[in-house]
Amino acid sequence: MINSDKDAGKEDRLNRQRYQPPGALRVLDRLATWFVDSRTYPDPDDRLRAKVFVIAHFLSPNIALLIAALLFFVADVATSPLYLLVLGFVLFFTYPFLVKWGIPYRRASVVSIVQFSLLVYSALYYFNGFTSFVIPWIAVIPVVGMLFLGLRGALLTSVLAAFGILTMLLLHFGGHAFPQTITAEWQPLAFIISATLSVIFVSGIVLCHLSLYWLAQRRLQSELVRHRQTAARFRAARDAANEANLAKSRFLATASHEFRTPLTTIQAGVDLLQRYRDKLDAQQSAEYLQDVMRQVKLLTQLLDNLLLVGEEDATDIQFRPETIKLADVCQDMVRQMRLGAESSQRLDIHFQGECKTAYLDEAIVRRILSNLLSNAIKYSPPDGAVSLSVKREDDAILFEVADNGEGIAESELARIFERYYRVSETARVGGTGLGLSIVKAAVDAHHGAIRVESSVGVGSRFIVSLPAPLTAA
Ligand code: ADP
Repeated sequence: MINSDKDAGKEDRLNRQRYQPPGALRVLDRLATWFVDSRTYPDPDDRLRAKVFVIAHFLSPNIALLIAALLFFVADVATSPLYLLVLGFVLFFTYPFLVKWGIPYRRASVVSIVQFSLLVYSALYYFNGFTSFVIPWIAVIPVVGMLFLGLRGALLTSVLAAFGILTMLLLHFGGHAFPQTITAEWQPLAFIISATLSVIFVSGIVLCHLSLYWLAQRRLQSELVRHRQTAARFRAARDAANEANLAKSRFLATASHEFRTPLTTIQAGVDLLQRYRDKLDAQQSAEYLQDVMRQVKLLTQLLDNLLLVGEEDATDIQFRPETIKLADVCQDMVRQMRLGAESSQRLDIHFQGECKTAYLDEAIVRRILSNLLSNAIKYSPPDGAVSLSVKREDDAILFEVADNGEGIAESELARIFERYYRVSETARVGGTGLGLSIVKAAVDAHHGAIRVESSVGVGSRFIVSLPAPLTAA
């Protein structure tokens, strides 16, 4: 889980790097973001237009001031309308701040476009009327309208531009004389410069609009990727939780069943002994008693395992080695196991080498042997033979539990140590799928190793090696 969180963080960082906009656009975007509050404009399209509005209002006065400077210094025009124009264009700088202070950009756009149109009309009027060099700027009005207000804005502002041109035409054909402020020799150059600037202005805004749009798309894409990754992680976690839940439910069902079977046998045995006490001979009574004892043993083992699973969930298995009487411990285990075996089953024990005592954790050894031996008994036929061999090999003790039972298929060997896992072929024999997972955890806690050799129909052999130095450290 921790690892996958780290991976997710790395992916996020990579995505962010991949979607970084180029430097200039980043600066423009940051500037516009400062003016446009995303809470006021939650809709991404709307926010984009508001940003373009802000950027355009930083650009337009600069370009218009360039024309004013040209007129003033090159064409030598120093009339009062020129100052008026300069003032009008400087006013555009205030619009981004109006947006920042919470005035909706659409409302500000309408005022701004009207102001812009009036400036274009008065420039047309004062600089040679219908033959003015400002004519290209009339075409800018609908473009600006479209970029700030959308298609409807473009239609309305087209009407506005047409209205301006119409007024000039009416005045012109009505015989009105316009002030002649630009001399004939300057008129072509002024037109070229003005047209170029209007094209630059419009391309600037369009470019900025497209770039911001591209940027928004990239961000959206990166969000989408992130969202997909989160969803995938969530699905994986949910599936794992479902799987765990399923395993737990299955386990609970099995465990209750496991308790019920021996309890029924115990009840029946005790019932028989009580009812027919006088009619049963000594051997029959001993057999019934043995049945009861076997089931009690089974229940005890089941309970032990259940308790261990609970403990393991909370803490690790404690490892406390000491010098123990190994041969006695093993003999005691086999004696106990005999109580749970069929009377016709054989249960042998062999010692090899020096293993009377050993430096081992007794609780862990008992846990391993009780589970391996009870499995060997459980999965062997009633006349089967189970053996436990104990031998020393250098600094380790080797335990070998062998049976001539039904064996385990090769394909199942990798999974039998998983918690709750049971081989389906053995489902008819009772079990919870806990035993071998407990054995594995115990062997690991003792820094040992376990392996299994098995063939179906022949039998199984579990070999456990536990480090046990000859002299205690
Ligand atoms: P349980 O015995 O409760 O099912 P275990 O974890 O002890 O659970 O064993 C897992 C599976 O391994 C068993 O379901 C069984 O199929 C298989 N198994 C374990 N020991 C033996 C054995 N000695 N002989 C045959 N199969 C075995």
